[in-house]
Amino acid sequence: MAQLNSHYLKLKAGYLFPEINRRVKAFTDSNPEGAARLIRCGIGDVTEPLPEAVRTAMHKAIDEMGTRPGFRGYGPEQGYEFLRRAIAQHDFRSRGLEVADDEIFVSDGSKCDCGNILDIFGHDNRIAVMDPVYPVYVDTNVMAGHTGDADERGLYSGLLYLPCNAENGFVPAIPAEKADLIYLCYPNNPTGATATRAQLAAWVEYALANESVILFDAAYEAYISDPAIPHSIYEIPGARRCAIEFRSFSKNGGFTGVRCAYTVLPKDLECRDSTGSKKPLHPLWNRRFSTKFNGVGYTTQRAAEALYSPEGRAQVAALVEHYMGNAAILREAATNSGLATYGGTNAPYIWVRAPEPFTSWAVFDKMLQEVNIVTTPGSGFGPAGEGYFRISAFNSRENAQEAARRLSALKW
Ligand SMILES: *Cc1c(COP(=O)(O)O)cnc(C)c1O
Repeated sequence: MAQLNSHYLKLKAGYLFPEINRRVKAFTDSNPEGAARLIRCGIGDVTEPLPEAVRTAMHKAIDEMGTRPGFRGYGPEQGYEFLRRAIAQHDFRSRGLEVADDEIFVSDGSKCDCGNILDIFGHDNRIAVMDPVYPVYVDTNVMAGHTGDADERGLYSGLLYLPCNAENGFVPAIPAEKADLIYLCYPNNPTGATATRAQLAAWVEYALANESVILFDAAYEAYISDPAIPHSIYEIPGARRCAIEFRSFSKNGGFTGVRCAYTVLPKDLECRDSTGSKKPLHPLWNRRFSTKFNGVGYTTQRAAEALYSPEGRAQVAALVEHYMGNAAILREAATNSGLATYGGTNAPYIWVRAPEPFTSWAVFDKMLQEVNIVTTPGSGFGPAGEGYFRISAFNSRENAQEAARRLSALKW
């Protein structure tokens, strides 16, 4: 009989969002009035329509494909040159960072990239993740057999968890022990925290000293407003020798439904093979794309390119301003209600401390029942998230303002 991948059986059943849905449904079923007033501030998905520059580029590309000379079949697996060049030029070289066009790998999403990247690493690496954490980093390592079983708190044996809390500003301390692969995400989902240049430099120094690789998820880069906060790990000297960066058009261009992202894999980045000799990773990632992927659609790549046009950039800036306007409104309301808030200034998430003696889920229930607002319990992102909850700024302005009015009046 064929064998399945037993590592999948170690995965904790998707608990967080099904449980949120279950509680919301129980509430709305028994309370039609509350159901009509319900505002969802739990979503990690964008809400605003696609920018005009994107739609125009997609229309043009599809019309081009409808002509004999303009038709395109399989494209380069790693992405069309026009897009790789636009990315390298606008996101890196124009900011003084050395990134070559062929170090950009265009994909259908950062979620996929975060999972697929494990293909080019060995199975004996020690993996470090932040806690709380974007669940994809953990679950893909579980699937690949890099962990043991989860304990009753949901922590997998074999992983090195790096707790993030108010005391360390949600940036983990450099561990005393050695990790080979380190997932960092800044600006962070779920905490909304950013890492300073000095903090990132300490991680790069650690990675170079230990021959580790940093997997740097910069999906929320566009939300950085503080000029002192690095937008890319490559702003740190030495990072080209120890870091892979993940970027996505999901949260800046509203591409969660269009699907396009990219990775940066510098040619200077080397790891050891099973005999201990150093080899570059770039050819492996390149080969993985050629063998297991056939590229992102032409119309989608033209759409992504349009985000870098003057109109596209202005429209992205307007989207970011919209969501960050919501974040300011919601953050102020939470503060007015007497809560300690974090994030929400360089990221579209506000991370809120639950007042004693509330647990994350107790806050969730109170907000749902008393003010009909859906939030995300922090404990769903890992044990260090217990005692916090996340408010998302992805919403219409109207909903954000109404949620803020209700939140300001909430008594704890
Ligand atoms: C939304 C998000 C992404 C983007 O994922 P896509 O697959 O590109 O839509 C990546 N990382 C984090 C932490 C996210 O929240």
